Amino acid sequence: MHVHGPAAPAEGVVVRNERCTAGRRAAGFVRHVEFDVSGTGLEGAFLAGQSFGVIPPGTDEKGREHKLRLYSLACPAGGEDGQGRIVSTTVKRLIDEHHETGRLFLGVSSNYICDLKPGERVRLTGPAGKRFLLPARPEEHDYVFFATGTGIAPFRGMLLELLRPRTGQPVLASKIVLVMGAPYASDLLYDPLLRELAYQNPNFTYLSAISREQQPEGEGPLYVQDRLTTHRELLGAVLGRPGALIYICGIAGMELGIVQGMARTLPEATREQYLRCDGAALAEVQGWTRRMLHKQLMLSRRVFMEVY
Ligand SMILES: Cc1cc2nc3c(=O)[nH]c(=O)nc-3n(C[C@H](O)[C@H](O)[C@H](O)COP(=O)(O)OP(=O)(O)OC[C@H]3O[C@@H](n4cnc5c(N)ncnc54)[C@H](O)[C@@H]3O)c2cc1C
Repeated sequence: MHVHGPAAPAEGVVVRNERCTAGRRAAGFVRHVEFDVSGTGLEGAFLAGQSFGVIPPGTDEKGREHKLRLYSLACPAGGEDGQGRIVSTTVKRLIDEHHETGRLFLGVSSNYICDLKPGERVRLTGPAGKRFLLPARPEEHDYVFFATGTGIAPFRGMLLELLRPRTGQPVLASKIVLVMGAPYASDLLYDPLLRELAYQNPNFTYLSAISREQQPEGEGPLYVQDRLTTHRELLGAVLGRPGALIYICGIAGMELGIVQGMARTLPEATREQYLRCDGAALAEVQGWTRRMLHKQLMLSRRVFMEVY
């Protein structure tokens, strides 16, 4: 961790910067960006699920140097190149309206990264993150991943790590389910890659959940947690396996709906492996709040969350 801190950042070189939404009519602008970190302390230093920092150039309105922003690694430990030299991330342009003036506001770091061209140099820090990682012995576990938006980044890395192992490493038999949420089908990220991985690996199921329009298969609008109902049998069976793990990454707030969905759909013995709460709380699932997640509702060590 923190091989390069903000005081002595590494210099990465942009090697690729491309859109990673399916259609040109996507509601958000999201790009897949790769950096060459050869020869720096970051080379070969990452694990899937970790993040790195980007320090945008320039100063803020108070004249202070911009602070670093964190971005999840979108590649496996071996990087995009298998040698740990090329790292990637998935960046959404932050475009907002100023809450008082109503004027357009462009997020500093996300727009800086999305505008970068191959060959440009960037100040990078990291690696960061010690919990949102794959287990030490991945073959002893099964996995359910829930992603919304750029929360797919760490799962792209983990899936490539689990399903396309490097030469000499065993191919995994674990069951893996990814539930990917997006407002519109055109906002699904890395959709062709995820479909290909599901096609090539019968142990991997890729489910999307589109919240503002019909699903491509004709079902109505769905949030990620609704897949616990539509695919109750599949998710109940995977989560009922002894080494199963749940990972949640994406938009802050998504975790509450998922935990409520687990409380409603999982058989008691399975639910208790992930979530402990008393009978009174269980009778009031609808009224649960995010604050309760870390107090009354005790999530077990088999649940991993990274929401921002
Ligand atoms: C562990 C972790 C992993 C992450 N991974 C990713 C990832 O993989 N991909 C990704 O895209 N993001 C990721 N993020 C979020 C990322 O770190 C940034 O927060 C995000 O890109 C926005 O940064 P920004 O510099 O573009 O926006 P900022 O410039 O920092 O703006 C942030 C907020 O402040 C408001 N704001 C600030 N100044 C003004 C102003 N003058 N006027 C109006 N509003 C203002 C904006 O509306 C906005 O809501 C992650 C965060 C964490 C904590």
